[in-house]
Amino acid sequence: MKNAADSSYKRARARGDLEATFDAIVIGSGAGGLTAAALLALDGKKVLVLERHAVIGGCLQVFKRPGFEWDVGLHYVGEVHRSGTLLSLFNKVTRGELKWQKMPDIYNKIAIGNDVFEYHAGSVAFKQRMKEYFPEEADAIDFYIELVNEASRPAGEFLAARAMSGAMFDRAFDHVAPRFMPLAEKTTLEVLRSITRNETLIAVLCGHFGDYASLPSVASFAAHAAVIRHYLDGASYPIGGAQVIAERIADTIRSAGGMVLAGADVVAVVEHSGAVVGVRMAGGEVLEAPQVISAIGIRQTLNMLDSADPEVAAINAKIQSMPSTLPAVVLNLGLDACNADMEVGPANIWIHKSARQTEDWQYYTADAANRPMPLHFISQPSAKDPTWLERYPGHSTMDICSFTDWNLWKPFTDTHWKRRGDEYETLKAKLTEEMLAQVYRFYPKARGRVVHAELATPVSFNDFLGRTRGDFMSFAPTPERYQQRWTRAFSPVKGLFFSGQDVAMGGVSGAMVGGLLAASAALGRDMFRELKALA
Ligand SMILES: Cc1cc2nc3c(=O)[nH]c(=O)nc-3n(C[C@H](O)[C@H](O)[C@H](O)COP(=O)(O)OP(=O)(O)OC[C@H]3O[C@@H](n4cnc5c(N)ncnc54)[C@H](O)[C@@H]3O)c2cc1C
Repeated sequence: MKNAADSSYKRARARGDLEATFDAIVIGSGAGGLTAAALLALDGKKVLVLERHAVIGGCLQVFKRPGFEWDVGLHYVGEVHRSGTLLSLFNKVTRGELKWQKMPDIYNKIAIGNDVFEYHAGSVAFKQRMKEYFPEEADAIDFYIELVNEASRPAGEFLAARAMSGAMFDRAFDHVAPRFMPLAEKTTLEVLRSITRNETLIAVLCGHFGDYASLPSVASFAAHAAVIRHYLDGASYPIGGAQVIAERIADTIRSAGGMVLAGADVVAVVEHSGAVVGVRMAGGEVLEAPQVISAIGIRQTLNMLDSADPEVAAINAKIQSMPSTLPAVVLNLGLDACNADMEVGPANIWIHKSARQTEDWQYYTADAANRPMPLHFISQPSAKDPTWLERYPGHSTMDICSFTDWNLWKPFTDTHWKRRGDEYETLKAKLTEEMLAQVYRFYPKARGRVVHAELATPVSFNDFLGRTRGDFMSFAPTPERYQQRWTRAFSPVKGLFFSGQDVAMGGVSGAMVGGLLAASAALGRDMFRELKALA
């Protein structure tokens, strides 16, 4: 007999719950998978979500150690403190059960060398603050925001096309491309260098390029503009932590009769005569459904598909040349002092070695084993969440995320969690020291208060998120990525849909929009338009 609250795949199978008939199976329980599943469930479909890891949520999961908890992949989200399509989407899939804490007006600080520049919430205030730092660049700053808006205006239409199939998609793509592509086909650095020669201003405006995990010399200006617009009015944090988002969406799915199961490793998408029929699990059993939505990444999904379709082969070939986003090491710190005692506030800090971001990265990767990482990000979730002090009195946490070179981690790809060997541990210890030094540089009162330090590496992200190069944000958002027509919800196999960040873009909101597009495709309805009408 079904026990909706029990998320164990093993137990659900033993109880016979999986003998039910499902309208759709969703692979992966990150923001992209859960969103698609919830939208289908709310539409009356019987949905089964299968998550390989022991905990649901993907990048939304939280992990705990005695006295502490840390988010895996969420530090801030934009556009949810005011009405709009994104807030409507969050409200719909959580049935209004999610609350947000707005961050203060200064939500990002950008350190370039020894100088710190603050991002102020609000387009007018942001421009004003930038003009105070760079008075001689006032026109360039105004023009920059105009270009950000220009690149963002057709983005909704560009994304909405990704829920369409066949000729309709091609027509929609061709219709919006003349407005979207001129800026999307340029890199961020190209666009910025066309409006100013001031390299420090460029570095400040690209200060949170870690949000798209790609260098400004690589990332499309469309991706940069989307991220800047997303946060321009400020940022918020989910009260109770990121796992609350996953739990509330899972509640929606379960209360509509669906199941969300962890420890459920899908090893193959099963198709017959060009149409999907279900999925094969690691134990060999096949679960059937006429629709399968995969939210584990397009690359990973196609690897699980034994298809003779030439379109699948063509996409697979193209994927080989698609660069990945930068991998990161994340140091999770537990401190035995409150944020207030250490003068730690909620604003994120992005730390750059110098204004020469591309050159600094090239210098680092030329000898990554011996050179310090040039970009770090410090976030203090305990200072953002108003429930923290009640839950963990006298304690606080910090996450430091630093971008690293995949070549350093390649030798450890075939090792197993907690048994990766001395060389790996030595590397981790060295990087932990390097990252701690950045914490003490900005928060000197944290010195002596760190009682727990745990480093996640790109190999950890491979294990826990099903990635291959630590690329937690999947494909790099290059100009070329925007030209691709296969990064959309419809796959070449009938009944198989893609969801998550590969369909839209990286980030929690990007993955959720991917879920919205997948649900639109599966239901044959423009849910984007429906949500806009609600906003
Ligand atoms: C350190 C870090 C910081 C971040 N900070 C922010 C931030 O502040 N704001 C923001 O908006 N975004 C942030 N992000 C990015 C954001 O979290 C992700 O882009 C987004 O959540 C990805 O969602 P997704 O559903 O596409 O994929 P994922 O969350 O990766 O979910 C994919 C799921 O599929 C599962 N899976 C894989 N293979 C299988 C299989 N074979 N069978 C079953 N299940 C499988 C995985 O275990 C995983 O749970 C951050 C990410 C990281 C890692």
